[in-house]
Amino acid sequence: SSNGSTEEEETLAMVKPDGVLGNYTERIKNAVVESGFSIIRETVIQLDEHRASTFYVEHSSKSFFSSLVKYMTSGPVLVMILKKENAVADWRAIIGPTDARKAKITHPHSIRAMCGLNAEKNCVHGSDSLESARREISFFFGEISTDAKNLCKSTV
Ligand code: ADP
Ligand code: MG
Repeated sequence: SSNGSTEEEETLAMVKPDGVLGNYTERIKNAVVESGFSIIRETVIQLDEHRASTFYVEHSSKSFFSSLVKYMTSGPVLVMILKKENAVADWRAIIGPTDARKAKITHPHSIRAMCGLNAEKNCVHGSDSLESARREISFFFGEISTDAKNLCKSTV
């Protein structure tokens, strides 16, 4: 841009239920900040079956889908919007490959190597493209909140 600043991107990061229950949240957030990301928004939520299925709809025909939905609803998740230059690819690189068992061998310093267990229970999520990032950010943060809706009603 004209003032010479770099173009920043936003991506969606999530600490999955095994990461939250295993007390990895602080370590993961330290890695986020040390890697130069700003945390723009964050919230802890419990996904229900419908919301978890919708988030992972691209995998709905996979054999592991019902197990994945059960895993993702097994406890609260921490979702964060992370911002920096090249945020989407950089966060994917920091978390490491999908299968945490492989990550421990090929990417031993990755987050999934640190706290993941296997191909399913891999403790963190990162958007895989800018398009996915936009969809996932609006999935969690895009809608007007129930509180805001009630506030609007109460002022009429
Ligand atoms: P990523 O999270 O690295 O983008 P995918 O989009 O391929 O990986 O899969 C989404 C999630 O589904 C994974 O993070 C993991 O929790 C689960 N998953 C992927 N592949 C498998 C598999 N072969 N068996 C069980 N669960 C899987
Ligand atoms: Mg994916």
